[in-house]
Amino acid sequence: MTRAKQDSCDVAIIGAGMAGMAAALFAAERGLSCILVGNGGSLLFASGLLDLLGVHPVAERRRWRLPYDALVALAREEPLHPLARINAVSIRSAFQSFVAALGAAGLRYAPLGERNRNVLTSIGTIKATHGVPISMIAGADLLDALDARPSCLLVDFRGLREFSAAQIAATLGDRWPRLRHQRIEFPGYEAAAELYAAHLARALETGKTRERTIALVKPLLGDARAVGLPAVLGLARAGEVHAAFEAGLGVPVFEIPTMPTSVPGLRLLAALEAAVSARGVRRRHHATVRALAFDGEGGTATLALDGAAGGVRARAVVLATGRFTGRGLTADRRQIRESILGIPVHQPGSREFWHQRDFLDASGHAINRAGLLVDEAWRPLDAGGEPFWPRLYAVGSILAHQDWMREKCGSGLAISTAWAAMQHVARQLRGTAAG
Ligand SMILES: Cc1cc2nc3c(=O)[nH]c(=O)nc-3n(C[C@H](O)[C@H](O)[C@H](O)COP(=O)(O)OP(=O)(O)OC[C@H]3O[C@@H](n4cnc5c(N)ncnc54)[C@H](O)[C@@H]3O)c2cc1C
Repeated sequence: MTRAKQDSCDVAIIGAGMAGMAAALFAAERGLSCILVGNGGSLLFASGLLDLLGVHPVAERRRWRLPYDALVALAREEPLHPLARINAVSIRSAFQSFVAALGAAGLRYAPLGERNRNVLTSIGTIKATHGVPISMIAGADLLDALDARPSCLLVDFRGLREFSAAQIAATLGDRWPRLRHQRIEFPGYEAAAELYAAHLARALETGKTRERTIALVKPLLGDARAVGLPAVLGLARAGEVHAAFEAGLGVPVFEIPTMPTSVPGLRLLAALEAAVSARGVRRRHHATVRALAFDGEGGTATLALDGAAGGVRARAVVLATGRFTGRGLTADRRQIRESILGIPVHQPGSREFWHQRDFLDASGHAINRAGLLVDEAWRPLDAGGEPFWPRLYAVGSILAHQDWMREKCGSGLAISTAWAAMQHVARQLRGTAAG
């Protein structure tokens, strides 16, 4: 790496998952020049639903209808949890800003409000979440009105993997007696043994396939007040496809998220890519950060990259590298390590305490609360409890004291910590000369 090839910025963000993308958006909105390193592959696993906080405490599996009430309880009972350290005003602002950016990039969400909404899953369970894509909201509205016994038709496509309208209807049958299901052939794919959601989504962007599909569903409607379909209603032109189905069928239409890799995950990735690009964030898409060096307390950080020419110099750096799946943390037989800098990781005293004896233990496993400890400005701490470097920050699932999967707070953690950290980054950089 030569100095001539280095690119400079105010803030370099390592990791382009939900947390890194959010951090890049919020950095650009604050007028900071930003380079985002990494590809957004981890977003492909997303369902498109933006959880804020659904379950607390984990051991009791208590579900919350009002996430901001849940956050108050979390702050009282788990003050070290990253979400407990951010005030509700900031969390609201973070979510509003995030969904506004997605909306401007063509991926619309229903107004956020104060509630968690219930959404159907592909196996017929009900998931509570906060941010719901507009294409799924009619299903959430019906679940709110189950006492009125709404009639609804679920349709799936023969050959579509891991999605069965019959199974969803069977699982919900007791609670939703007027939920019917039908299976149809996807037009043009009648000879295919297996169908893939992304292929169907692309096919439905052509008017002819869309019209033929609507024509197949319409005679099945009966008294249905709404129609649910697997989430295949378009990719780049999803809004147009969804609107065409509603107009053609004459009733609200909602999508049900499919298993990952899902079309809503593809849409989310595309919208975030477009949103950061529209804000002038520079990308190092196919690169990973191999090493990070700091030139003195008041100086800059230099990122050495694999997979891209040249390095990056930055006045501040945000670690958004995730936990084990993102590879921000790695575990060997003895301990858990932070992958790039070897920053101390908060973890159980020895490996025997990583997991409970019972894999399904309601309280979860200690390894899923391992991560970086940070100060009040979201800067990871060294072994002496001091900031590792004065302008190094950490956001998202790499942080300690949270179990986002069980707490149903993945996006909330990513978006809110990115927002909170970026407030400190902006404040700190404004107080120093431009690099
Ligand atoms: C199957 C699945 C389903 C989910 N469903 C939901 C849901 O329904 N609702 C919800 O709110 N959330 C959901 N989430 C969670 C959410 O999408 C995020 O995964 C979670 O919030 C963690 O985000 P993160 O950005 O902190 O970490 P990650 O998503 O793990 O991203 C970290 C990124 O950093 C990159 N990286 C690591 N090291 C380097 C390096 N050295 N250089 C460059 N890049 C690097 C990784 O490649 C990765 O892309 C789901 C996640 C999964 C896996």
